[in-house]
Formats: sequence, C-alpha cells, structure tokens
Amino acid sequence: RVWNFSAGPGVMPEAVLRHAQAEMLDAAGSGMSVMEMSHRSPAFDAIHTASIADLRTLLAIPDNYHVLYMQGGATAQFAAVYLNLVGQGDTTTPVDYVVTGVWSDKAAKEAQALGAHVRRVTDTSADRHTTLPDAAALALQLGAAGHGDRGGKPAYVYYCDNETVHGVEVSPATAVLDHVPKDVPVVCDMSSNFLTRPIDVARYGVIYGGAQKNIGPAGVTIVIVRDDLLQRRVPAIPAMLDWSLAAKNNSLYNTPPTWAIYISGLVFKHVLAAGGVTAMEAQCAAKAARVYAAIDGSGGFYRGPVHHAARSRVNIPCRIVVDGAPAEALETQFLADAADAGLVELSGHRSVGGLRFSLYNAMPMAGVEALIAFMAQFQQKHGP
Ligand code: PLP
Repeated sequence: RVWNFSAGPGVMPEAVLRHAQAEMLDAAGSGMSVMEMSHRSPAFDAIHTASIADLRTLLAIPDNYHVLYMQGGATAQFAAVYLNLVGQGDTTTPVDYVVTGVWSDKAAKEAQALGAHVRRVTDTSADRHTTLPDAAALALQLGAAGHGDRGGKPAYVYYCDNETVHGVEVSPATAVLDHVPKDVPVVCDMSSNFLTRPIDVARYGVIYGGAQKNIGPAGVTIVIVRDDLLQRRVPAIPAMLDWSLAAKNNSLYNTPPTWAIYISGLVFKHVLAAGGVTAMEAQCAAKAARVYAAIDGSGGFYRGPVHHAARSRVNIPCRIVVDGAPAEALETQFLADAADAGLVELSGHRSVGGLRFSLYNAMPMAGVEALIAFMAQFQQKHGP
C-alpha cells in the first residue's frame, strides 16, 4: 500500500479494512455481507446502534443530543442548518457566519441563496484565508453588546473548525465559542478534524461532519444536534434535510448508507481501542509538529503560507519557493517523484495550488517520516 495523504476521501486504518475484508461474505454469522443486509434487519440494527453508542462514548456526547446519520455530504448540511434552525421564508432573523476559508464561505453562500439574512461577522479572504480573526474582533462582532447595533441577536453563529483547503484551524476551539453569548447556539463544521481531539459537545448547538476524512467512507454525514433545537417551528423542509424527521426515525426514515455506517462503526471501535480522542490528539500533534518542523527547517525552500497561530494540525498546505516565488514546475516534479516513491495525493486543492499534506487519524507516524525523508531528499537534489 502507498502512503495516502489525500484530503478526502482519505486513508483508513488498515486494521479496519482487514476486518471488513474478513467479514465481506459473512458478517457476524449472518451469511451475508453488510452491503446485502436490510436496513431494518436485527443484524443491521445491532451495527447501527453500536456505532452510535461508541461515538457517544468517544465524544462524551450528553444525553440531550441526538446523533444522526444524514446523506448529501457536509454540503447538504450548509442548507440544512438554515432550514432547520431558522426556516425558509424568514429573511429577517440574522444568522452570523465566521468566514475563515472556502468551506465556511460556501456555507454562508448557501444560506444566503436560500434567503437567509446572513451576516459575515468576519471574513479572512483579504488575507487569502491564511489567518484567523483576532479575539478582539470576534468579541466585538459576536458579543451580545454588538447585537443591537447590528440588527439583533442571531439565530445561530456558524464556523468551520478546520478549513481543509486553506489549512486553517480554529485552535483552541474556544476562540470562537468564548465570544458567543450562551443563549445563541453555535453550529460547527468539523468535517476534517472530527475525532482528532476531545471537544465539549455541550457548548455547541450543532456539530456536523462528513465521514470521508477521519471516520469512514464517503456517503454518510454525522450530525450531533441538541434536543431543543429540534423543537423550533419552521416551514416544511425537504425530508432528506430534516433533522427532526431523522431523529424521530433514528436515521432510518429512508434507506441509510448502510455500508458507510458499518465502516464508521468499525473506526469508532478502532479509535476507542487505541485510547480514544485524547490519544488521537497526542498523535495528531506529534505528526503535525514533525511536518511543520521540516517545513520551517528547510531554510525557506518549503514554505507554509498559513500564519503560525492559525495552522491546522490535519491539513498542511506548503509551497516550494525559489527566488522568493512559488516554483510550480518544481512542485509538479515533487508530486511525480513522490508518487514514484509511494507517497500520493500530495497536491494542493485546485483552487490554491501548491502542495498539501493531510494527516488524518489513520496516517501513521511511519508515513509522516517517509514524507519528511522524501522532502529532504528532494530539497537536496533540487534546492539552491
Ligand atoms: N466542510 C469541510 C470542512 C470540508 O473539508 C468538506 C469537503 O472536503 C466539506 C465541508 C464538503 O463535504 P462534502 O464533500 O461531503 O459535501
């Protein structure tokens, strides 16, 4: 197998893949693959129920939160957030978005397109999303004191914990949370750093994330939502985006992505056995530290565009710089040579170019060491 640094779908724990392989034709004595099971069968019910229980344990999710398996990717949730928490047709209740990269930008645009009164409380696009808003600005924009001036209290405050494309992570997460008044629910997209550290779920109204980075196969999106937020009276929502409907039906209103749920459940068990999210946090920090040290210690040949305080632990963008400018031809060479050496999916997102190293939970330190050794070799050959 190669070392896969893809931003998603990303690398999976090999033990999970082997487990799934062993059960491929006969899962838990059922005589069939999980893929072949009815979603209403006792065998699948056991898989589904255990997966939710394990996720609850991993994140210490309080009882007054629902865990939902939704479809349509994290992108579908961009619309679902506004439709469930405010409701289509309400164009006056403000909703506040902290825009730190392409994903929070898309979320804000989607709500706006549906008619929401979106306020971009901050937007780091002037810095090409290489920074985070400073605490003073957030306090001013999100704090209750500013509501009157800005046209009232928002129905929610939205932010993205880790911007996958730009490599910007809100760390510690409280940098946003601390400034939001307690009676305003916080909605957070954790697609790319889900399960990479402990979180205090009780401080959020809604947490969601697509599975295909730190959890499992594409096709399932996890939504963790506080009970009382499902009681809001809103106009009809398309069934597939309706959190209340999903909660009432235990995510079985229609056929759920059974295979993706099954694999996600195996990953939850795997992470629990490996020491839970506290252990993931330590591994994540160690891996990121190694890569940033390699970049910062390269004498300027490799350069991370993101300001230090905003650096992501899981998605690390990087440029190769010669004579003060990105050397695109060398980057292309880097990608080709890396692939020959068994290191793949190292290119930056097509919107920003350059390189990007994604270090999800399933990437072992051995893969990181292989990357760093390759970077050093490449610099030796092509550096000034
Ligand atoms: N949010 C973040 C932070 C992402 O990284 C992505 C995809 O990479 C999305 C949302 C969109 O997810 P999906 O492709 O599952 O709709």
